[in-house]
Amino acid sequence: MQECIFCKIVNRNIPAEIIYEDDQVMAFKDIRPAAPIHYLLIPKKHIPTFLDLKEEDEGIVGHLQRVAGMIAREAGLTKKGFRLVSNCLEDGGQLIFHIHYHFLAGRPLQWPPG
Ligand code: AMP
Ligand code: ZN
Repeated sequence: MQECIFCKIVNRNIPAEIIYEDDQVMAFKDIRPAAPIHYLLIPKKHIPTFLDLKEEDEGIVGHLQRVAGMIAREAGLTKKGFRLVSNCLEDGGQLIFHIHYHFLAGRPLQWPPG
């Protein structure tokens, strides 16, 4: 997917502050942080939305969530915690159509979101 900004990050065509990477997933700093810690966790495979997930993608999504736990441990968040959230389509507020989790931490986060 040539147009996709997150695929470009995966392929090193545009820069990002990558904080974690393995063969399946990548995590990098959000360019417009909404909290003191704001990472984006993405699969390297281009999947536009959660509506496009196939059975064979279940492992990737599970892996992304486990990586979130690893990142939280690494960042010393095991007591304070964090939020993992994903926006889907217009009402969800999705702007980039490559599945991602926002990993937010470093301040008390309000609920429900606006
Ligand atoms: P969403 O609205 O859930 O699709 O979130 C997209 C997120 O991607 C936003 O929080 C943006 O700030 C972030 N973003 C857009 N472009 C970049 C980029 N080049 N590097 C890092 N984060 C980005
Ligand atoms: Zn993509």
